[in-house]
Amino acid sequence: MPRVGFSEFFALGRTVANGQLLRYAGNAPGYTRRFEDGLSRLTGAEHVLTVNSGTNALVTALAAAGVGPGDEVLVPAYTWVATALAPLAVGAVPVLVNIDESLTIDPADIERKITPYTKAIIPVHMLNLVCDMDAIMDIARRHNLLVIEDACQGVGVTYKGRRVGAIGDLGAFSFNHFKNITSGEGGAVLTSDERYFVRARMYHDPGSFMRGHERTNEPLFSGMNFRVSELTGAVLHAQLGKLEPLLNRLRARHPMVAETFANLPHCRLSPHNDPENAVSLSVIFDDPEEAKAFGQTRGAERLLETERHVFTNWEAVLTKRSFHPKMNPHNWANREITYETKDYQRTLDILARTCRVSLGAQYPLPVMKLQQRVLRQAAHRRTAPQAVANA
Ligand SMILES: *Cc1c(COP(=O)(O)O)cnc(C)c1O
Repeated sequence: MPRVGFSEFFALGRTVANGQLLRYAGNAPGYTRRFEDGLSRLTGAEHVLTVNSGTNALVTALAAAGVGPGDEVLVPAYTWVATALAPLAVGAVPVLVNIDESLTIDPADIERKITPYTKAIIPVHMLNLVCDMDAIMDIARRHNLLVIEDACQGVGVTYKGRRVGAIGDLGAFSFNHFKNITSGEGGAVLTSDERYFVRARMYHDPGSFMRGHERTNEPLFSGMNFRVSELTGAVLHAQLGKLEPLLNRLRARHPMVAETFANLPHCRLSPHNDPENAVSLSVIFDDPEEAKAFGQTRGAERLLETERHVFTNWEAVLTKRSFHPKMNPHNWANREITYETKDYQRTLDILARTCRVSLGAQYPLPVMKLQQRVLRQAAHRRTAPQAVANA
């Protein structure tokens, strides 16, 4: 993530001096609006709506598209839990789909999980990696499904020349502390569909009817307050200027780090759905123990160890508990949805053998040269043979 520094400080100072902290106060377009326009130009999505988190961006996107009780939403078994919680927030149920070695939702498994009740697919661009969007859009078209991209971890990343988040019907970004650009917390909904945008704006702001938005035929419905303040908008506006430089640094380091893993006997680069434009990298080992050992190296991490992103740790989803029994979306589902570990062994097997490798965007290139050597040595070292007891 780019550092927060003087430009954010300056934008915040101006906002405070101005005294208008509500994004809908003031007459001239404020930072939030200018940030949205900038993000719209960058991604090609006609409409961008800033909201207060990536989770709420997903919830807003689902509500805008009319996903609700009785609907099934396909989500990968490897993602941040919020992807699976979002359908529950609108009364729909998540159906888990295995990932493939690209660490993103497996199109073949999507086809297997489709039922007459499936309404939407949420492909997740994990770790700045990209989903197989051509295959996913094709499946969606054939089965008349919505595609809501979870690009929370892929802000700015391209797939075959297009920016993720702007390829499906709707997209969601997160600006949480850990993401490509950050305001501590924050998110955005992207869409090029006018009606979805109007509905998203309505849902995210109970006061939308009095903001002086252009007239629409969309009847007003009840929503939530997911608005951001101008303080968030100010920080995001400054951060947006740092996004392309960050992605360029990642792109420049990718071939260097990728080369580190050339011709190793028992590990290889994970397949990537758009290798020429990759800004992120992971390696897959034949043996989970080797992956585990390599995952101890600085700058590397075995994905099975990122527990919070593995479906087996999504207690609230697996137990199907909600805040009130009568508000449980599983009551409204058309069939019983099961979450059995045995059905997702493929995902667990891939996560047990895969390590993400940091491209070190924060380090100068010479430091990455040194790091390359460390990584190659670590990948080359087979797991130590059983230590000889009592030797
Ligand atoms: C971070 C993240 C979210 C949620 O974003 P928040 O801003 O933390 O609410 C959703 N999906 C994925 C894949 C994420 O990484």
